[in-house]
Amino acid sequence: MKTKDKTRPLLMGLPLAELSNLLNQNGKRPYVADQIFDWVYKKDLLCPLKWANIAKDVREWVETNFRLDLPSVSWKGVSRDGTQKFLLEMKDAQTVEAVVIAAPHRLTLCLSTQVGCAMGCTFCHTATQGLTRHLEAGEIVGQFIAVQRELSAQDDSARLTHIVYMGMGEPLHNFEAVKKATGLFLEAKGLGLGQRRITLSTSGLVPQIEKLSDFPPINIAISLHGARDDIRSKLMPIGRRYDLQRLFKAVRTIPLKAHRHITYEYLLIKELNDGRKDIEALADLLPRKSSKVNLIPFNEYPGTPFRRPSRERIAWFQDELCRKGLTCTIRRTKGDDILAACGQLKTSVRRPHSQ
Ligand code: SAH
Ligand code: SF4
Repeated sequence: MKTKDKTRPLLMGLPLAELSNLLNQNGKRPYVADQIFDWVYKKDLLCPLKWANIAKDVREWVETNFRLDLPSVSWKGVSRDGTQKFLLEMKDAQTVEAVVIAAPHRLTLCLSTQVGCAMGCTFCHTATQGLTRHLEAGEIVGQFIAVQRELSAQDDSARLTHIVYMGMGEPLHNFEAVKKATGLFLEAKGLGLGQRRITLSTSGLVPQIEKLSDFPPINIAISLHGARDDIRSKLMPIGRRYDLQRLFKAVRTIPLKAHRHITYEYLLIKELNDGRKDIEALADLLPRKSSKVNLIPFNEYPGTPFRRPSRERIAWFQDELCRKGLTCTIRRTKGDDILAACGQLKTSVRRPHSQ
């Protein structure tokens, strides 16, 4: 039974069209896929035997051929600012973290796409654990459903409204699974989020950026962190493989709808990339019309040699960039008291004690 369990795919990773094809190939009526989606994504009932309007043979077929398990919440913590962090355990006991950030009229879920990460950025806590494995599409979607359940249990009206792929992992390194999961988030008969409500952040995998025309048109954020090759490649090993010129050539191939832009995330690290020269380099590098800069004050974590610049320095950096005609925001740090802020996620400690 166990081997079979492992080989059965998760139903939650299956696009609607694929499910109807499979039903058709197995002598079932393809439109039943819509009804199955309704049970799974709208009614959140993951037990096929209870799907009242679906024929018994179809319910049994689903039971035999698919898994419908969700990641289980093995720990959760709430930050002083209300940010919630969930440690989610997959079927094989691997764990990832998901974070919920509340703002007026929005509830954003920061999702993981891999167990760990292979990219080795020197400022990132996740990088220190290396890559264990990719998540399957169904596990990515499963994080959403599992966290939504937790939130609904606290407050029946709470609804996740936005998704950012900014948890553990490099989403474009797990391209196909993230693409499938994104399709299910966007699918009106699935989770039904709008394109503008999903943001994918990448460290700059050039070949995959060049394939983004083959990806649903969601918001794209590029982790830049250095506007000069020497600094960027010191912070991000990927910068040695693809220099800034190569990266920007790829970025220009991203199809942008009218009035859309690319967000450039720029980590501010004390005395490393927070000087006037960096402002000049950023201003030279970024096209004004299609760029937004999001400054991320460095989040410290145990063992890192990097420090966050002072508040004044961060405000100065923003002002100077605005003066150069760039649209520029500062990301508010959320959840850092429970290591839930950007770059602080790490799951080598399997089960931290509850707060
Ligand atoms: N792997 C993807 C997405 C996850 S990280 C990426 O790198 O883009 C989400 C954002 O947090 C990235 O911009 C990342 O560079 C940033 N980040 C990583 N470590 C950080 C830290 N210690 N402090 C602040 N931001 C950090
Ligand atoms: Fe991976 Fe992103 Fe961390 Fe770099 S910053 S190691 S790409 S998760």
